[in-house]
Amino acid sequence: MAQTLATEVVEQIAVENGVCLYPIPMRVTDTRSSAAEIVHLPCGATLESKCPPCARRARALRAVQCRQGWHLESEPVRDPAAATDEQRHLVMVRAQWEGWRAEAAALGESTDAIDQAIADLDAAIEATGLRGDVRGRAGAVSRKRSTRRRQDAPDLPRRVMRRTTLGQTFTGSDGRAFRPSMFITLTLPSYGRVRNGVPVDPAVYDYRRAARDAIHFGRLVDRFVQNLRRVAGFDAQYFASVEPQRRLAVHLHMAVRGTVSRADLRQIVAATYHQVWWPSCDEVRFSGDRLPAWVASNGDALDGDLEGAGAYVDPSTGEVLPSWGEALDRLDADEEAVPLHVVRFGDQMDMQGVLAGTSDADQRIRYLAKYLTKSLGGGIGPEDHDRAAHAARLVEALRYEPCSPRCANWLRYGVQPKDAKPGMVPGRCRGKAHKPEHLGYGGRRVLASRKWSGKSLREHRHERRAWVLEVLGLAERGDAEREAGRYLWRPIRAGDTSLPTRRGRLLREVARAQAWRAHLADLQARAKIDPPPEAEECLSKQEMVMSC
Ligand SMILES: [Zn+2]
Ligand SMILES: [Zn+2]
Repeated sequence: MAQTLATEVVEQIAVENGVCLYPIPMRVTDTRSSAAEIVHLPCGATLESKCPPCARRARALRAVQCRQGWHLESEPVRDPAAATDEQRHLVMVRAQWEGWRAEAAALGESTDAIDQAIADLDAAIEATGLRGDVRGRAGAVSRKRSTRRRQDAPDLPRRVMRRTTLGQTFTGSDGRAFRPSMFITLTLPSYGRVRNGVPVDPAVYDYRRAARDAIHFGRLVDRFVQNLRRVAGFDAQYFASVEPQRRLAVHLHMAVRGTVSRADLRQIVAATYHQVWWPSCDEVRFSGDRLPAWVASNGDALDGDLEGAGAYVDPSTGEVLPSWGEALDRLDADEEAVPLHVVRFGDQMDMQGVLAGTSDADQRIRYLAKYLTKSLGGGIGPEDHDRAAHAARLVEALRYEPCSPRCANWLRYGVQPKDAKPGMVPGRCRGKAHKPEHLGYGGRRVLASRKWSGKSLREHRHERRAWVLEVLGLAERGDAEREAGRYLWRPIRAGDTSLPTRRGRLLREVARAQAWRAHLADLQARAKIDPPPEAEECLSKQEMVMSC
């Protein structure tokens, strides 16, 4: 009991001091002097339920990214060479982690923390625009599909494209130039009447449609952006966050650089839709105990076209089920085929004009970042039985919906999932979309276009890090750290006896954070330092320091 309490108290102190609750211990060895020290990397969680200090830092960083891009006055330029360096570095780090993961797995240790780090790295690599997969799986060549032509062009005016990512500038009566931007809120349609976030009549609430809309929401947003650019006549850039509504449908807040007229926007929203050309899932072919069976390929017995080293067969007849590619080919050949689903926005649309540097813009930025540390399906209180039941019904509706071409649920409808492998069971897909905390939406919470700020999240992070190192007089050490190959980083295994207890490590990090903060406050009191590169209200000095 005393142990538990002490841990809780230590965790509370850590949170108050912005110290990561689950630091990843690394041993850093200076290959010149052979001196080694233990350094703790923050876990990097983005959800407050996992690690509040890391989640707050992630949110603050997103706010910085949002602010920098929204009212850019010149085109963001990316140095292609620098980007390549960054990519090379990230891929190298990624390879190291892959090796550590294999070692940990071989020793039978938990790889959760490493998996999380790898997922973050993959996201960072993807954000640099690197195509394909660093593990060597080349990006699949997209099929030339006739279904493409069925994505009818929406009925929208097409303006001449200007080669710019900046909106128009206007000159006010006082001669001052200003650059207006937009803050847009887009919602999904109604699935039935709701009161206080709960369907008035759950029996008629369209849970299936709600589930499918949520699964394909990301694609709908993509289409919206394409249409917006077409009508706007320039390469409009955006920073958006996906958030839950009270009725547990996802919706979107989007900061857009530049503007279109309200009438145009209304037209774009109304004309935007996404057709899902997937095989039909109207007919349940396999369920309960009667599920398709995996048959390993013996080399030549099966059609060489099938992915993997085997295939799923009908358990009664032994007939091989159509592969994902074959199912799509059939769909193509069928002139009568209709899309599995069509997703559109609802009537509720909101657009606010926003001017750079106003308190209004600041408020919107905070709003955009506000919910990022909460999971989509969170926020249902323990007493809120009606909404909990509503959430449970939505999760049930999502259970057998295919969330992607690779979803195990395709077996239920007699189609082999893409890249089928043994052990797939309908209803047990591990895709994010099926989980209660995601409400059917398996995509990213923050959607930022490539030319938003012209910087990756990593570059934004490094800017802050550079500022802190400079202020603390540690910049030189930072340079040495970058010296190629000088420092050897290795994760420390859980059983390593040289590793202090977690409580001990948290307290050490707290002490370090406090020392830095005191030092910073002292420098600031003597007015020896410039303000940080981004005067960020929601980013305390302490958070700046801890971002290192
Ligand atoms: Zn953390
Ligand atoms: Zn799935």
